[in-house]
Amino acid sequence: MDLGLKGRTVIVCAASKGLGRACAEALAAEGVALVLNARSKDALEQTATEIAATYGVTVTPVAADIGSADGRAAVLAACPAPDILINNAGGPPPGKLKTWSEEDWVQALAGNLRAPAAMIAAVLDGMAARGFGRIVNITSSVVRHPIDMQGLSAAARAGLHGLVSTLVRDHVGRNVTINNILPGPFATDRLISNFTFRAKQQGISPEQALAARRAELPAGRFGDPKELGQLCAFLCSANAGYISGQSILIDGGAHPQIL
Ligand code: NAP
Repeated sequence: MDLGLKGRTVIVCAASKGLGRACAEALAAEGVALVLNARSKDALEQTATEIAATYGVTVTPVAADIGSADGRAAVLAACPAPDILINNAGGPPPGKLKTWSEEDWVQALAGNLRAPAAMIAAVLDGMAARGFGRIVNITSSVVRHPIDMQGLSAAARAGLHGLVSTLVRDHVGRNVTINNILPGPFATDRLISNFTFRAKQQGISPEQALAARRAELPAGRFGDPKELGQLCAFLCSANAGYISGQSILIDGGAHPQIL
């Protein structure tokens, strides 16, 4: 299916690996020009080189912390008028209410609430003026289904969902959509680090913790980041202008709900 995105300009935040990279690759396959962001310069540049070579598109890496105002300014300087914005950042640390430090709270809100809010604020009016815009926020299934130890993630991301719900109607009439993707368990480094934490709590190995979780999943496997990338690309497609304000859970049926 041609998603009608050839030649569009795209910012993907937090995209040197994992879900952000998968979104970048799915969009690159559609012929967009990309600005990719992550903090570690070498890994980001390698990803940018690989995506440019694989898909024959322009990829500009911007090494910066998307949770900082300076970092966001650097990303926006490389792409001041994006057609598509994919908001993403590293997830907050697992833990319990009494264990998160002041700094944990500051970082979680900076990366998972302030960063996407500021990026949306920077691009929204321009998208509306040009008559096309697609914004996708990568959040988490935890917004809908509580996960023990992920309360800080839930707190920051629920704030973003609340904010977005108030913005959706402003510019949908100008073909600008905003949607959230809520990943369940996907096979990325983030998943492994979360299960390393959980394994330590339970006195088992990370491999045992991962195997136990996998066995619980109705799909019998973790999600492949490529599957999330394809969903993201579809939400960004030319014909998806009537889908806005949606929070789409992608979890292989892991979280039962009344449909
Ligand atoms: P990942 O594999 O660890 O990749 C994270 C990416 O984000 C890396 O490229 C990392 O590069 C970049 N990054 C992290 N913090 C950043 C920052 N402040 N500024 C710029 N770039 C930053 O993680 P993932 O699994 O793809 O997860 C992506 C998001 O989805 C996270 O918020 C995660 O909590 C959420 N999520 C994931 C799952 C899952 O199962 N994987 C489930 C639910 C929610 P640098 O470290 O070099 O910056």
